[in-house]
Parts: sequence; structure tokens; C-alpha cells
Amino acid sequence: MKCPYCGYTDSKVVDSRDTDLSVRRRRQCLACQARFTTYERVQAASLFVIKKDGRREEFSREKLLGGIHKACEKRPLPAGTVERVVDDLEAELFRLGRPEVSSSLIGDMVMERLKGLDQIAYIRFSSVYREFADLSMLKQAVDNLSRAQVKHSSAQLVLIPEIETSPIPRVEAGHKKSRV
Ligand SMILES: [Zn+2]
Repeated sequence: MKCPYCGYTDSKVVDSRDTDLSVRRRRQCLACQARFTTYERVQAASLFVIKKDGRREEFSREKLLGGIHKACEKRPLPAGTVERVVDDLEAELFRLGRPEVSSSLIGDMVMERLKGLDQIAYIRFSSVYREFADLSMLKQAVDNLSRAQVKHSSAQLVLIPEIETSPIPRVEAGHKKSRV
């Protein structure tokens, strides 16, 4: 198994987990120390994604991971969150048992998960995925999001604490301001 970062062919297994469809292994490259995930599947079934322009391409976990990572960049999410989102999504996709799915279905599934995780990541992902033509479309998406949250806030349990979207004021070391 080649390291996706440096191409080195030897790695060690640092974690192994069984899911109902696969064995997931976290590996660490012996050359560059980068960590990556491999899956061993029961079935060699491949899943094809039908893109908006009608082209088909094989489902790529790495591609999906890359897209979500990008949307979650510098967001205060616990380590491994993106991988868990992708694990979950991938398992659900394979559970559908279809030979092909539309890219819009995958996009919707990602957005559904990001919506509950981080608003900024959600907006970033949707702006790429939905290819917002201008700011008014983006604003509309943001408005829809806040409306949906107002609607659900009383009915749903909050499983993930609200994420701070404003920058945290910096407190300089040794200069704690005391308020009178
Ligand atoms: Zn490597």
C-alpha cells in the first residue's frame, strides 16, 4: 500500500476497526510518518458517481475526504471529525446497494451532516457544491440555514455545542485586565 503523500510502500497499522462492511485501518507511513486510512471490503463492488454533466466516475473516498477537509479547514472541530463523517457517509452509500449514485445525492448527504456540525463548513461546502453564482444566492443559503435552525432549535436536542463564529478576543499573557 503506497503512502498517498510520499509514495513510500511500507506502512504500519496504528489502529484497526471493523464496520459492518469493511475493516478500516489507520496506517502510518514509515518514511514520512503521515497517517492515512485503508479499507478492506467484503465485496469488491464498486460505486459509480454520476456527475451533473452526465459523466460517470468511480466513487473516491479520498476525493470526498479532500472536499470536506477543505470546507472544515481551520474550523474548531475535534480531530478525526471529517474522517468520521466520511466513514459514516461511505457506509450509508454502500448500504444503499446501488451500483451508481448521483453526485447531488452525495452532496446533499454531506451538507446534511455538515449542517449539524459547523455552520461555516456547511456554507463553504455548499458554496462550492452548489456553485453559487453570486452573493445573493449565498445570502439566501445562509438565511435558509438560520431559519432552519430557529425552527429546529426548540424541538431538537443539541448534541454538539454551538460553535463560536466570532473571533475570540486575545488575552495577552501576564496582562490580565481586571475590570472594576
Ligand atoms: Zn509517506
